[in-house]
Amino acid sequence: NKQKYFITTGSKQFDMLLGGGIETMSVTEVHGEFRTGKTQLCHTLCVTAQLPRSQGGGAGKVAMVDTEGSFRPQRVSEIAKTRYDLDPKEVLDNIIVARAHSHDAQMDMVTQLGVLFADPERGPFRLLIIDSITALFRTDFSGRGELSERQQRLNVHLQRLVKHAEEFNIAVLVVNQVMADPGANAMFGPVLKPVGGHVISHACHTRILMKKGRGDNRICKVIDSPCMPEAECTIQLTAGGISD
Ligand code: ATP
Ligand code: MG
Repeated sequence: NKQKYFITTGSKQFDMLLGGGIETMSVTEVHGEFRTGKTQLCHTLCVTAQLPRSQGGGAGKVAMVDTEGSFRPQRVSEIAKTRYDLDPKEVLDNIIVARAHSHDAQMDMVTQLGVLFADPERGPFRLLIIDSITALFRTDFSGRGELSERQQRLNVHLQRLVKHAEEFNIAVLVVNQVMADPGANAMFGPVLKPVGGHVISHACHTRILMKKGRGDNRICKVIDSPCMPEAECTIQLTAGGISD
């Protein structure tokens, strides 16, 4: 009886690349440089996850773990009101936001969210966002020789997210940072790669790279989908969120 949902990103082209949108029972990663629109995508999905199925929504509630203080209720209100003609207060009431200041707190929150997701009176939840998944792990394990412990803990965290996605039919979206790739040939400038290595690629079913285009244009590239070819499209960052 668990049917997969696709939650619209707000852009038809982007949805098409993803096979319909951000998928439930699955973990999707989005990475890219600063100001490429990763958090704007999160804000847009906070609204679209609540839309009825007939409008490409998930007809559900949203949980958000904010590790950078980047969640902006005003942005969610603006998107809800201007783009989807929804009552901003109702939309915000359906979003649970938890602010984490350490990787331990981040991990605990995800564990505790399992209790919430399992409670039929408080759901259904259809979207869980972690913005960002790796930042606090990088801060808390920044010393030499701590990399393997960091990766182990990150793996435990991600496996729990995979489990939540499957058990509760939730779309999990994790935002990731990029870092310079020391192994790459830098003749054409620094080559950036997502943080977290194989631990992330193993747990995430779909990966998205966001790049700057001209002005408010952004390029979204789907790089690791189980059922869609590698392809990219151009989207826009607008007052109403992500759009064609
Ligand atoms: P970081 O890695 O620093 O967290 P990010 O990828 O999360 O970056 P966002 O915060 O999602 O970046 O994107 C910031 C960009 O979103 C701004 O540069 C701006 O172009 C755009 N933006 C923000 N608010 C609006 C708005 N109300 N209307 C249109 N565009 C906006
Ligand atoms: Mg951000």
